[in-house]
Amino acid sequence: MTLAALSFFIFAAVKTAGGQSPAPAVPDFPTSGAIECAGAPAPVLCLSDHSWPIAAGWNTDGRTVSPVAACAEYGKGRVVVFGHPDFLTTTAPRRDTKKVVDWAIEWAGGKPKPKVARSTRVEHADVIVVVGEPEDPKEMLKFVKAGGGVVMGALPWAWKQFRERGGLNSNLAVNYPGNRFLAPAGLLLCDMSVAGNPAGGGNTLGFAFPECSSPLKAIFKAAKGKFASEAEKEQAARALVQAVDALPPDTPGWSKAFANLAKSPLASKLPSPAKPLGPDDWASRCAIVFRKNLWQSDPSAKIDPDPAAAVYPGPCKSGAKSAPEVVTIDASTPRWHSTGLYAPPGAQILVETPAGIEKKGFGVRVGTTADDLTASKGEWMRAPLVTVTVPLDARKTTVASPFGGFIYLVVPGGHEVRTPVKLRVSGALKAPHFVLGKTTNAEWGAMVKAAVVPQVELESKGLVVTMPLKAARAVKDPEGVMKFWAKAMEWYDEFLGEMNPAQSAERVCCDVQISLGYLHSGYPVMAPIDAAGAGAFENPAKLKKEGAWGIFHELGHNRQKAAWTWNGMGEVSVNFFSLYLTGKMCGLKARDAFGENTSKAHGERVVADWVRSGRNYDALYRDPFLALEFFLRLIDAYGEDVIAKTLRSYTASDNPGTDEEKVSLFAEKASKAANANIAAAMKAWGFPVSAAALSRSSSYPAAEQQIVKGL
Ligand SMILES: [Zn+2]
Repeated sequence: MTLAALSFFIFAAVKTAGGQSPAPAVPDFPTSGAIECAGAPAPVLCLSDHSWPIAAGWNTDGRTVSPVAACAEYGKGRVVVFGHPDFLTTTAPRRDTKKVVDWAIEWAGGKPKPKVARSTRVEHADVIVVVGEPEDPKEMLKFVKAGGGVVMGALPWAWKQFRERGGLNSNLAVNYPGNRFLAPAGLLLCDMSVAGNPAGGGNTLGFAFPECSSPLKAIFKAAKGKFASEAEKEQAARALVQAVDALPPDTPGWSKAFANLAKSPLASKLPSPAKPLGPDDWASRCAIVFRKNLWQSDPSAKIDPDPAAAVYPGPCKSGAKSAPEVVTIDASTPRWHSTGLYAPPGAQILVETPAGIEKKGFGVRVGTTADDLTASKGEWMRAPLVTVTVPLDARKTTVASPFGGFIYLVVPGGHEVRTPVKLRVSGALKAPHFVLGKTTNAEWGAMVKAAVVPQVELESKGLVVTMPLKAARAVKDPEGVMKFWAKAMEWYDEFLGEMNPAQSAERVCCDVQISLGYLHSGYPVMAPIDAAGAGAFENPAKLKKEGAWGIFHELGHNRQKAAWTWNGMGEVSVNFFSLYLTGKMCGLKARDAFGENTSKAHGERVVADWVRSGRNYDALYRDPFLALEFFLRLIDAYGEDVIAKTLRSYTASDNPGTDEEKVSLFAEKASKAANANIAAAMKAWGFPVSAAALSRSSSYPAAEQQIVKGL
């Protein structure tokens, strides 16, 4: 298809989405001041020439903008949507929010003082204020078409999280009821949140939006291949990817336009680490997301392998033979249970269960990679979403992934069963799967040598790691490696004096690109395929010598507690785990745990810099190793176990709320653990210890002078 023909097809397809001409005048919404909500709102896109943006925010890239509130005319009625429910529910004075919501209700009602109902269903009223999503999107749309008004506030990522927690398909385009209502009316709530505001403070009203923040303008410009600048291209790419990601696949006009685009040669480039897809590749990005939504709309059906699967997770050996396998799984703990089986890209997998297991809330998952890069990354080194979960609601369940991946039984919390579950799995390939205590090094070597799938798993009671086959070839002693990690996981429990409340093994997944940071916490912890990620599972001798600071740190985040993590401490108190684990597993003193960062010399230098620059309390957390220096000094003075002793003394009834309460509780518990007045030392560092805590700790001997040295 030529560019001209493509442009025509897209234009013709999208034109049918408008449908109502001539375009009405822009409504007279408030154009000065700003609105604000508690938290970050979602982007709201305008899809038709009968929809208009109201307030603006930056996207997470810090360069492109999206509306966070918008309005539209549909049929005889009107809709105003806000990218956060808090805009509608807040009673706090938040800039001009109340004024704008009052305007929205009047405009949607088409008259002064309309009759208002607050509901998620159609009511006898002029305007329905919907907090969250309408229960029946079609009914609500009919109400608007006939002349009703709707003012809605919702947060799609919160809906996604809720669905994920319940083991349900959280695909926004396919299942989100908010957009089933909004998209036909020309509006769209998108994933992620908008970070802030181009003009600072709240979300600006009357913002001069760049033309390509509208997907409608963006797709016409894109189809013609003409952008005024690089910035405009980036803005268009952002708006189009956001739109295709959230757009119900049957939206008139738009779906046809994206389907045409996906088939065009413009959209044929594939992502890879060597050649990531950037703003120039807007068409290929849209096509990948469009294909993702088609797949997610029916993940049970047979599907072609995605061409991007060749990069990640990778292809299976062609001609590899598959035979039905019966696997026995201990489903008495929640989260993912490995089957050791791998679904080839595009293969339809059949999972058969014994009677009584179906409709228990279980699911079947294909793929380990948890991160979805669609909205969070400027460039893609792989397809942004490569996993799927389907509910196990019948004795026979089929699932297919165009990317392929490891097959898991997913047991949501509260759905565990005591008896082992026997699953019969057909269509899958056996993967190298090392289980500590069951598999020998020799067996592992043979498995890796004969491997027909691109990924492997190494499992111990407390931790499972998934990595590419390529990286696994360097793992010669998996018994040594996983013994190290099994023991390390026990130290997390010992450190806190309690078992992992998640009740099942943690996971680490090594990926070519993750959504956030260099490594990040979660289930699984997402890590790169390098020394800090996959390398932390390679060589037991190296592990015993140096530990694995980064992985210790991320697994620490999974066990961090709010009771002792006051504001600013997120990247500080997590390192209590890294220090302790490095000490117990490698015999290193806390001062030697992370090279220069934890050294005495470094500590003295950063403290001196901080004091010289005015000892601002907020600045104490700018470098996590500056605030950590206080705790390192505590360890220097009172022993390697002093923090463990302090944290272990927390009980379930310790629920400090404010920062002062959290700091004060820690100060008192640390004073007791050290048998010294740590509260006064913390006060000297600037931590907000309460007068009561200071007074209660004053009976202990004064803390060692070295703790406040240089202050
Ligand atoms: Zn961290």
